[in-house]
This record gives sequence, C-alpha cells and structure tokens, in this order.
Amino acid sequence: MEEEESTLHDSPKEFISALANVGGGCDAQSVLPQDDGSYACHCTCGEWDVTAISQADGLLMAQKHTKESIGF
Ligand SMILES: [Zn+2]
Repeated sequence: MEEEESTLHDSPKEFISALANVGGGCDAQSVLPQDDGSYACHCTCGEWDVTAISQADGLLMAQKHTKESIGF
C-alpha cells in the first residue's frame, strides 16, 4: 500500500504549468444568456469572447473555435 504513495508523486504538475505558459487552453467554453436576449460566449483561453444570437449558435461557434485553436 505504501508503494502506491510514490506513484502519486508523478502527478502531472509539469503538464499543468506547461498549459499555463502557453497562455491558456480552450478547456471550457461558456454560453451565457444576457438581458437583451443574446448570448455571451467566453472561452478559458481568454482569446474568444463573442456574442451569439442563440445558445445553439453560441455552442456551434464554440465548437468552431476549439477546432481552430487545436489546429494551431
Ligand atoms: Zn479558446
């Protein structure tokens, strides 16, 4: 049982810090309804911040955004 503890030290801390150094990844996107009926779309990368006419439109654009980002 104590041997398992040593494997826990292999937690991917370096991987996490590497992601942070890149300037943020597209880990999650949000499509939030606004008072005027439009939807505010945000991404965790901080480089995607748009307004959608509907939630479906926002989700579509989110998919497109993440595909574009992965392409880099
Ligand atoms: Zn993004």
